[in-house]
Amino acid sequence: MITPNMNYANLKDSYLFFNIAQKVKAYLEKNPGKHIYRLGIGDVSLPLCDAVIKALHEAVDDQANKERFHGYMPECGAPFLREIIANFYADKDIKLDVDECFVSSGASDELGDILDLFDRSCSALVIEPAYPAYVDANVIAGREIIHLASGKENGFLPVPDENTRADIIYICSPNNPTGAVFSRSQLQKWVDFANKNGSVILFDAAYEAYIEDESLPHSIFELEGAKTCAIEICSLSKTAGFTGTRLGYTVIPKALERNGMNLNDMWVRNRTTKTNGVSYILQKGGAAVFTPEGQRQIRENINIYKNNAKVIMEALDKLGIWYCGGKNAPYIWLQCPNGMGSWEFFDYLLNEIQVVGTPGQGFGACGEGYFRFSTFGSPEDTKEAARRLSELLERK
Ligand code: PLP
Repeated sequence: MITPNMNYANLKDSYLFFNIAQKVKAYLEKNPGKHIYRLGIGDVSLPLCDAVIKALHEAVDDQANKERFHGYMPECGAPFLREIIANFYADKDIKLDVDECFVSSGASDELGDILDLFDRSCSALVIEPAYPAYVDANVIAGREIIHLASGKENGFLPVPDENTRADIIYICSPNNPTGAVFSRSQLQKWVDFANKNGSVILFDAAYEAYIEDESLPHSIFELEGAKTCAIEICSLSKTAGFTGTRLGYTVIPKALERNGMNLNDMWVRNRTTKTNGVSYILQKGGAAVFTPEGQRQIRENINIYKNNAKVIMEALDKLGIWYCGGKNAPYIWLQCPNGMGSWEFFDYLLNEIQVVGTPGQGFGACGEGYFRFSTFGSPEDTKEAARRLSELLERK
């Protein structure tokens, strides 16, 4: 009889979003017709911008035309989009060859697939609280996982010390769920550590477009030595509303080698074996994001989310509640007031003011006592949620 991958039996059930949905459902059954203010969602609420929609329509028409029709696309990405991505980096003074830029179907797919590059014996270090997929993808692969807890004392931005050991290192900056962003000097410590130890950093830059402080790095390749130790995984999901459309890009420098193997070459071989390229239509839509018009339009949407962040941050500032994130990230991570637990605070907000957030405990044990607000909701609901929060907690 065939033996399935028994590592699946080691996955912990993820009750986080299921529990949230169940609790909201139960509340609405008891309180029919009540409006719920959803600050828990990790999905965008604004539609794709006009420049993207126009490009998608044109690409659909191309597919109806004998001369302009495209069949299979190159596995590593359409040359037109790979070049646009390389130019996007060049504008940030990061020099990349076009074939160091790969087009993907989104960061989630890539974060899972990229693990093909590493042996099962490699350990994976996950800075927690963390995006849950990092842990689960490595459990499925049967890898040892090193959980590196972070906390308020280091601003949820830990750096390696003499006890740190890791082969694969996940760094998400700006972070989901904490919204914390590594400074150049903090990130440099991880780059130096990885080069010294022969580790590889998987740098998840899904939220780089939300950084507004000029001193903070958008890309790990802004750091000296990163090209010999890092892979950067990016997504148009939160940058340009592609969560349901699906497009991302990944940078694997040609200088990244381990044990005589070149990881860029390996990834080309992986893509040509396991994919037949990302749809032409989506790549045309993605290309439109990088045009001046596309950039202006996606900024307008990002600014709406940033304004939501300001509204929540102002309320928390007035209440004197500790938080991080919000300024350079679409998430705000706060300490639950009055020593409440994550789920206790969840229930309290749902029952008292019908505001839904995400309990921090769901992102790792060290998230207990913290809570995540997302800024991807509607401005109206966000304003009302912040007003209700202020009124409720001032009363306390
Ligand atoms: N990485 C992080 C940290 C995320 O929060 C998300 C989505 O929420 C993703 C990756 C997945 O992005 P994509 O939609 O491109 O798969």
